[in-house]
Amino acid sequence: MAYYDRVLSQRGSLPYDIDGVVYKVNDLNLQKRLGLITRSPRWAIAHKFPAEQAITELKNIVIQVGRTGVLTPVADLKPVNVGGVLVSKATLHNEDEIRRKDIRINDLVIIQRAGDVIPQIVGVKLEKRPVLSKPYLFPHTCPVCGSHAIREEGEVARRCTGGLICEAQAVERLRHFVSRQAFDIDGLGEKIIQEFWDDGIVRSPADLFRLEENDKKNLKPVRAREGWGDTSARKLFDAINARRTIELERFVYALGIRQVGEATAKKLAKNYHTIQALMAELEAAAKTDSEAYAKLIDIDDIGPSVADDLVGFFSEAHNKDLLNDLLSYVTVEPYVAPDIGDSKVAGKTVVFTGTLTTLSRDEAKAQAERMGAKVSGSISSKTDYLVAGEDAGSKLKKAKELGVTVLTEDEWSKLIA
Ligand SMILES: [Zn+2]
Repeated sequence: MAYYDRVLSQRGSLPYDIDGVVYKVNDLNLQKRLGLITRSPRWAIAHKFPAEQAITELKNIVIQVGRTGVLTPVADLKPVNVGGVLVSKATLHNEDEIRRKDIRINDLVIIQRAGDVIPQIVGVKLEKRPVLSKPYLFPHTCPVCGSHAIREEGEVARRCTGGLICEAQAVERLRHFVSRQAFDIDGLGEKIIQEFWDDGIVRSPADLFRLEENDKKNLKPVRAREGWGDTSARKLFDAINARRTIELERFVYALGIRQVGEATAKKLAKNYHTIQALMAELEAAAKTDSEAYAKLIDIDDIGPSVADDLVGFFSEAHNKDLLNDLLSYVTVEPYVAPDIGDSKVAGKTVVFTGTLTTLSRDEAKAQAERMGAKVSGSISSKTDYLVAGEDAGSKLKKAKELGVTVLTEDEWSKLIA
């Protein structure tokens, strides 16, 4: 402890940062006998110094927007020396943290540095609080693009809904837009997108489709860029032009709406058929008592949270402008249902239960959907068929009570053959 105290007293005058001392057994034979556990030796132990603290003024709370749209509050501090390091910024984590600690602009705050971690605000000197101080109001709009910033239930983070129009998120969104499952445009890697963005030639997805036209007008032509030439520019334009017509589900996926992956995009395409219908219906679904909302929620796997993200996206004015701009260059093909011939189960609702012997549950489900049936997880009076495998239990009982037609796996196979 005397050694520890001595090093602690020297801490401020050392030419480097330390956060404690390490005690070691200084006998090599004993070290061998003590041995190692997964990540550390049993013959050494760290004894940390208390975190260094200082008091300073919180000048402002600045909101930073990350690549995924998360709004993060950062404290802008009057610079203060904390254990030999000048600190002028500290993290505030999120809006709950600010509320819990009741941190307000112009407060005197206690700053702490622990190890090499970003400085934190431990608390507020309440007795020094200015009389007219008001609680901090976390913004509900994005400071970068002005779109709504929403916070979903159960989440601590508030996110910008601006997506493609938000500069903080745009490069990431553009990368997603051209990715393989989306517009699938070859030759547009992250580095090139970033360069195009920095030079201002691609700021939105629609700009991609204007590149060639701008090239002809000699407006910052791609062919004149470093590392490019006529051939490589031509190749890029060809790749872009090949995508001026696109399937609805790819188009929806490419928009990068939160919680809307390939599977959800496909379901939306299947249920709304055209981009025009989809845009109109999802905008109408902003009213939760509307028919449009009921229809949206009725789609398999779309719950209130996904519905919120969808409605949020399609009712944002910026996004509508962006979509209309994009649609003046891109033709979105209406969804075409697979040809199911004279399927006997088209439009029927089917429930599978018990253990199937010839197919896995997923295969059976996919097969039924290919034949135009709707597969549901629970029995109701709307169920047309219950396909009961081995050891069918409560669903079979309920189906019988409701008078739903019960089929064996074999009978089902014959029905869809
Ligand atoms: Zn934004």
